[in-house]
Amino acid sequence: QEDDFKKVISHAKEYGYVFQSSEIYDGLSAVYDYAQNGAELKRNIREYWWKAMVQMNDNIVGLDSAILMHPTVWKASGHVDAFNDPLIDNKDSKKRYRADVLVEEHAAKIEAKIDKEVAKASKRFGESFDKNQFLETNPKVIGYQEQIATILKRLGKSLETEDLADVKSLIEELGIACPVSGSKNWTEVKQFNLMFGTKLGASADSAMNLYLRPETAQGIFVNFLNVQKTGRMKVPFGIAQIGKAFRNEIVARQFIFRQREFEQMEMQFFVRPGTQKEWYEAWKENRIKWHLSLGIGEDNYRFHDHEKLAHYADAAADIEFKFPFGFKELEGIHSRTDFDLSSHEEFSGKKLQYFDPELNESYVPYVVETSIGLDRMFLAVFSNALQEEELENGTTRTVLKLPAVLAPNKAAVLPLVKKDGLPELAHEIIDELKWDFNVIYDEKDAVGRRYRRQDANGTPFCITVDHQSLEDRTVTIRHRDTMEQQRVSIDAVKSIIAKEVDM
Ligand code: ATP
Repeated sequence: QEDDFKKVISHAKEYGYVFQSSEIYDGLSAVYDYAQNGAELKRNIREYWWKAMVQMNDNIVGLDSAILMHPTVWKASGHVDAFNDPLIDNKDSKKRYRADVLVEEHAAKIEAKIDKEVAKASKRFGESFDKNQFLETNPKVIGYQEQIATILKRLGKSLETEDLADVKSLIEELGIACPVSGSKNWTEVKQFNLMFGTKLGASADSAMNLYLRPETAQGIFVNFLNVQKTGRMKVPFGIAQIGKAFRNEIVARQFIFRQREFEQMEMQFFVRPGTQKEWYEAWKENRIKWHLSLGIGEDNYRFHDHEKLAHYADAAADIEFKFPFGFKELEGIHSRTDFDLSSHEEFSGKKLQYFDPELNESYVPYVVETSIGLDRMFLAVFSNALQEEELENGTTRTVLKLPAVLAPNKAAVLPLVKKDGLPELAHEIIDELKWDFNVIYDEKDAVGRRYRRQDANGTPFCITVDHQSLEDRTVTIRHRDTMEQQRVSIDAVKSIIAKEVDM
């Protein structure tokens, strides 16, 4: 698993998808730049989301609100007081950890250990082995499970150093290698606010303390009434937004999965109070359909319904994706009640109510939110696409099987040789295609090498121009995933590509 993830990171760099930010200055931790191919892949994911959410739904409109907002917004939203993560330092190693992540990771390790015990026992007892009975009656396993459950229950509310101590002793008992065991020198758990502060204004006295937004949602809430009135929107309706968000994450590992500057694609759907449950279920279904429409495979997704709810929510679920490091949150669907709008009413002193002509009454709408990280979606798509295939002739090929609709370049046009007018015809074909698709030209190396290069780049089609092309205006078109080639007329190329890549 770790190796797979390393391959993903190095492939992303080698093929111009993702670079460490400020690399020549040794980088900035958990900040990344998207390069020539990465910027295109990101743009296509953005577009695919926007089309599905805004263009396809006549009751959802877009918004592009500012990153900087009035500081009271973050008082009202609860971020100033409660947008904290528990932090713990190890005084020996001088390493800093997010205490809840640490505990969860180790709980997962303990659970894996229990699974092993179960596997061992089932081997010993053969067909007569009853797993449920084993889990219910084995005192050791019961003990571990209970301890994990207690620790996890306390998570998120107030994580204490004792929780870590519990995990530590459990881990020692089970002999699992982890950073907690063997070291006693931990600080107390501190609450750490994740918002980045900045200042507005030049003079020291009058400067105003601001925050870089930690989510795009609040820009939607404060604009709710303006959009509703000017767009003459009727509840239920939604406002969608894509934009940067900033969080001073305590530990930011895992490449672009957890960054300090990232992009969110969020949609707030305003509904009549009392109907939020139905809409929550509807949006869960709608969003998983969007994911599955990309053909990345049903097995890679699962829902995780939250038992512990944030202060603003009456229901919440994550769509989790099977990343190279396991199932992790990719998107959240939250039923946020009227918490945000009511709180903004209170703090701003302005009414944020909707007059419902059918009910003939005014109310603060309830909100169902869908929130997905663009960078996490990028990582999901990219890591799943990267494959190494054994070919019939015994060689392997590295291929990036990106969904064609998301691929940065839709086709590469390759003249078989660099002479005899083939490059000119290749450029003519590119000119025909380039208003509709990103198309690249490649004439270097043998054509087989060029195919491999485009496979690794994720380009779904290679169009090869040869001497026959000059005579009958046909070319070969090679499909990345099947490696099949067909001879087609130059006039047909555009529609063949369009059929696969149109959103
Ligand atoms: P996590 O538990 O992983 O920190 P979260 O529950 O804080 O995530 P939300 O506040 O619900 O995340 O944000 C919505 C979405 O934004 C997440 O599902 C994720 O895709 C994305 N996201 C959140 N934090 C980051 C980050 N630091 N880097 C990249 N994407 C992020």
